[in-house]
This record gives sequence, C-alpha cells and structure tokens, in this order.
Amino acid sequence: MTLSLHNTLTRRVEPFQPLVPPRVTLYTCGPTVWNYAHIGNFRTFLFEDLLRRHLEFSGYEVFHIMNLTDVDDRTIKAAAAAGKRLAEHTAPFVEAFFEDSEYLRIRPAHVYPRATESVPAMVALVERLLERGVAYKGEDGSVYFAIGKFPGYGRLSNLDRRELKVGARVASDEYKKDDPRDFALWKKAEPIDEQVGAAWDAPFGRGRPGWHLECSAMSLDEVRRRFAVETLDIHAGGVDLIFPHHEDEIAQSEAATGCPFARYWLHGEFLNVRGTKMSKRFGNFLTARDLRDQGVNAAAVRPLVWQTHYRQPLDLNDEALEGARQGVKRLGELHERLRERGRSDSAGPAGTEVLAGLSRDVARDVAAALDDDLNAPQAVATVFDFVRAANRELDRAAGGAATALATFERIMGVLDVLPTPRALTPEFRRWIEEQLAARERARKTKDFEEADRIRVELRARDVELEDTPSGTKWRVL
Ligand SMILES: [Zn+2]
Repeated sequence: MTLSLHNTLTRRVEPFQPLVPPRVTLYTCGPTVWNYAHIGNFRTFLFEDLLRRHLEFSGYEVFHIMNLTDVDDRTIKAAAAAGKRLAEHTAPFVEAFFEDSEYLRIRPAHVYPRATESVPAMVALVERLLERGVAYKGEDGSVYFAIGKFPGYGRLSNLDRRELKVGARVASDEYKKDDPRDFALWKKAEPIDEQVGAAWDAPFGRGRPGWHLECSAMSLDEVRRRFAVETLDIHAGGVDLIFPHHEDEIAQSEAATGCPFARYWLHGEFLNVRGTKMSKRFGNFLTARDLRDQGVNAAAVRPLVWQTHYRQPLDLNDEALEGARQGVKRLGELHERLRERGRSDSAGPAGTEVLAGLSRDVARDVAAALDDDLNAPQAVATVFDFVRAANRELDRAAGGAATALATFERIMGVLDVLPTPRALTPEFRRWIEEQLAARERARKTKDFEEADRIRVELRARDVELEDTPSGTKWRVL
C-alpha cells in the first residue's frame, strides 16, 4: 500500500506523490511567539511530527521548514504592553517553544526562518505582486492584495464568494481598500510599530509585513534557494488556519509565481480541554510547560494524541492521560523483556520464530495504518495487540526476541512513546539531593506549596519519594 493523505484542497484522501521524489518539502506554520504556545498548538505540532516521521520511515527525504512568527499584531501589542522592544519580548517565548518541543519529543525542523530576519524576502514578494498588478497601495499607505484579480480565491476554504463579500462588508468602512475582502500584505508603520522596533523601509513605504505574507515569503524563499522550485509538497497547520491564513497564502504565492503553492494541504483538528476533574486537578492546564510542571511524562502525552485521528477533535482529560500512562508502562515493560530475552536468544539455540513473525506483522500493519491518512489510532491499537501476543509468546517459548526487539524499536522510532530510562548520573543524583534538601527546608517553614512543587518536579523526572519516619527515601522508576 502507498501513502494516502487527506488533501483539504480537494477534500479527498489522495495517493501522495511529491514533486521530485524521494524529496518531500514540508512547511508547517510555526508559533506566534507573543506568549507560550497553547497545548492545542502542540497537538498540531505533534500531528506534524508523526507525519514527518512516517514520511521518513517510508523512505522519503523530508526537508521540514517551520517559521517563527516574531512580528505580527499580537507580538507588537504584547511587546508594547510589556514596555519592551519586540526582540526582547519574543526571545524568551522562542526559547520556551524549543524547550516545550523537546519535552514532547518533537523532531526539530531543518530550518526555522524568523519573520523579522526574512523581511527582504517579504519586500521582494510584495514587489512581485505589485508588478503583476494583483497588489495595490491603499489610500492609508498600506499595500493590499486584490482578491478580485485572483480567480482561485476561496478554493481551499470552499467559501462562497458572495458569502465572503457580505460577511466582510460590515467592516468595509474601516478599510481604505478597493474591495472589502482585500487583505493587507504590508501595513504602513504606526507609532506603536516604531516604538517596539517593528518597522522596516521598503520601496512602497515604511511598514511591516502582514502575517499571511510572512509564511508565503519564508516558505517560497527556502524552497527556491535550496531546490530551485516554488511549490511545496506539503503545507500543514491547524484547521483554524484554513481561512483566512492559508487561503491568503495561496493567493499571494500563486499570483506571484504562477505555480501551485502546495500540492497537499493537511489540517489538524482542535484539542479541547474538558471535564471538571481535569480542571480541578490540573488547574491552569493550558501550555506544554504546564503539563511538564504537573509531572506529566511526555511519553504519555504522545500516545494520548495518537489515540485520536488528527482530523477528529481531541479531548484531553484525566482518564485519557492516565490510560495513556499505563499503556506506555506496558510498552516499556515489553521493551525490557525483549531486550533481556534477546540477549539469551542470541547465546542459546534458536527456538520458535513465532515472535519474530508477530513483529513483522505488526510492523506491516502499523505502516499500513499510517499509510491510510495517518490512522494513528489504528496503529496504536495494532501495537497493543502485539504487546499482548508478544507477552504470551515470551511466557510460552524462547526464540525470535532479537528480531522482535529490532522491529519493535523501529516502530517506536515513528511513534516515540517509550518511557525514557533515566541514567542515574552523578549530576542527576546531585540534582535529586539538592531538590530533597530544598523540599526539607520548605517543609520546615511550612511552605507546603513549594514542597509539593518539588515533589512534582521530581516526579516529572521519574523520581518517586517516600516519606518514612527515618526520613525521605527516593528511587528512580
Ligand atoms: Zn502560516
């Protein structure tokens, strides 16, 4: 079976065919670094991580581009409110984004172009659109895209053109543009932009890029320079980006290049945080670092996300998280068993090869599930069937464990859901002792909130504490 993906552009699951196989250029809309990324954003990034890993597992050479939106309306407002320059305000959120991605085991993109460092590419794209007569300077000094001159507008989001017009007319008086639907490519510099350092000179006037323009300019610039093409194989993002963000990206890009902007458009559904238990127990449960700070192991977050198809809304709740944690524990136990048995297998006589056969079946079935528009729930179910069957076989007979181990680890390379074994290095031991001492001090001064926080922090690193009459004991799980 070959890989098929749901293309938002055609609303169908289609066989995947990159422009120049085995190369796949993948562009994923990155975070807007005005604040910490929401866990819902990370659901999208996790779906994109699975897509990337499955493509690589299938033999494609993926070049993954993810932008950082470090200048837009929100970053400028947030920087101004904090009394900071734009770069000063966004820097810690960029750092936090990378930390959170690493915590969730998201494979890093090959490049992370930043909007503020890509202004020349944006200016060039606006000039190209002005030359082609599909952009114009409005009375207010901003540059707009003329939607009326791009017949394909609305194709991705499937919006009725009249509907678009009626919907937008309400706000039309505010705009100094020819058609109320036209969107800004380049916004004339306002005092607040100058204040935070978010204004650049351009032949068509001092200003700053519109958000939609940023993604088009950065993605096209990367693939043009590296591969001499102006078409992406896959463009992915959250469903909330389909309109207007991705619709506008298509309009700007295709009007400028005359080439299809992206061959496949993939969109991940929302994540909902529901259930009273969850909100009570976890309180402020909004960002990836909240999860980490609450002692949630990333190895459990990933299978929780895989258990719902990326085109279905995902509910995050206590029960689901606990279920995922237990599942991950079973995966870790099987992994350990296979490792031990694999060692004795290679030394002893070859017994039954049933286990090796089971592992080949699961590898085939997981690949087939993911080939079917990334059916991760099916892939995960297949893996757990294998866990049961493999444990039965390990109880029953010897043989085949070395093969099964290698295959199991290859599958785990795609899903990446094994609990991390923690090596008890001298540094780690010292860090644990320091945390315990700090917890003791907090308890003596009756700062139980701090004591609890430290316990949670230790727990996140798989260190379990037990308070006994003779003092606190700890062990690494
Ligand atoms: Zn984008």
